[in-house]
Amino acid sequence: MVKAELGTKRTCPSCASRFYDLLRNPIVCPKCGVTFIAATLLPSKSDMPPRETVEELYLLAYGRLPTDEEREFGESLFHEPGASRRSAVEDLLWALLNSAEFVFKD
Ligand SMILES: [Zn+2]
Repeated sequence: MVKAELGTKRTCPSCASRFYDLLRNPIVCPKCGVTFIAATLLPSKSDMPPRETVEELYLLAYGRLPTDEEREFGESLFHEPGASRRSAVEDLLWALLNSAEFVFKD
């Protein structure tokens, strides 16, 4: 039986091990120590325009607003054929968290 306080079962994007997030955010993989943010905890207002969503994600990951170029790239993900809001957010977040700039700060 799953206890509620264990949180949600996650798959680490780095080492693919499965673990419970213990309701933490950002989530830290107990095996390899990688930090990531659950897409389900992101701003999920479906009426938030792509531009603002991109800004939110940059603030969340980097603590700063995107440059014009980054904003353009982020927004383009929302307009790709077949892209949903969720897939665009996940693609952008994945790109952000796998870039060299992302450093987890306490
Ligand atoms: Zn891991």
